[in-house]
Amino acid sequence: KENGRNAIRFFNPAMQAVVDAHARMEIGLREALNTGGFRLLYQPQVDRHGRLAGAEALIRWPGAAGTTVSPADFIPLAEDTGLIVQIGQWVLDTACTQLARWQQSSSTRHLSIAVNVSARQFRQADFVTLVRRTVENAGIDPSRLKLELTESAILDDLDESITRMNQLRELGIHFALDDFGTGYSSLSYLKRLPFAQLKIDQSFIRDMAQDEGSETIVLAILSMSHALDLEVIAEGVETPTQREFLRLHGCEFFQGYLFGRPLPIEDWQDFLAMV
Ligand code: C2E
Ligand code: MG
Ligand code: MG
Ligand code: MG
Repeated sequence: KENGRNAIRFFNPAMQAVVDAHARMEIGLREALNTGGFRLLYQPQVDRHGRLAGAEALIRWPGAAGTTVSPADFIPLAEDTGLIVQIGQWVLDTACTQLARWQQSSSTRHLSIAVNVSARQFRQADFVTLVRRTVENAGIDPSRLKLELTESAILDDLDESITRMNQLRELGIHFALDDFGTGYSSLSYLKRLPFAQLKIDQSFIRDMAQDEGSETIVLAILSMSHALDLEVIAEGVETPTQREFLRLHGCEFFQGYLFGRPLPIEDWQDFLAMV
């Protein structure tokens, strides 16, 4: 009764606990949106010569007492509740503001920022308009903005995705296909979509040394991408052995703890000392 008339009550206490936890998290996400409670970290991306090429922006939700809820845990709920639209807009605004700062200085002007776009965000009817407006408001060179999409975001309505991506390409924005290799990865649709870059999923990089299958997949992705004129970036590169293997087989870009962890921009001095 205390929960009000409209509260849903399941008989199963375990299910109820999950519902309660989600409800609490949803309230927390709304509050974080209204009070500036999210943080954006930046993880370096480097080229084959080890030169800094840019960053991937990764959201954090710092909680009480130094805890941080992983985006892997709250992004799915943000998607279900539709809050991802506002959260995604905050990420885009923040990343574009950072790009504007980098573009003020000749030593950092060339750096790019990759922003993750979730399926529901990408499928909003006014997504293209919102991105265009954000880029204009920030006054940035759009060619330094890269949007990371996953297969699940584009495959639902391939024709609509192609239209949308081409509209953003006309503005100069680039696209990377995130977590490549974990979904359908059909070659036939890849040809039709204007991606500049494929991002090999970190699970393959992690397992390469122990598992021949992963190594074979990595090699296949590299040769296929190059045949299709796509750049490849490997995510989750943690060891020099992984980097050397990837470099030997023509991988163009690298991201992972070997080069740097995601950090607040205030802590980027060491990375920027590389440029
Ligand atoms: P993702 O886009 O595939 O991001 C890569 C994840 O790998 C990040 O986890 C990053 O911190 C982690 N990572 C990077 N290098 C290494 C490494 O060398 N070893 C290991 N073990 N991990 C590494 P994170 O930051 O926890 O993000 C998880 C996922 O949450 C992201 O996967 C992305 O799908 C989603 N996400 C993060 N930020 C955003 C955002 O702003 N918007 C949306 N829609 N999704 C986001
Ligand atoms: Mg990503
Ligand atoms: Mg990824
Ligand atoms: Mg991933």
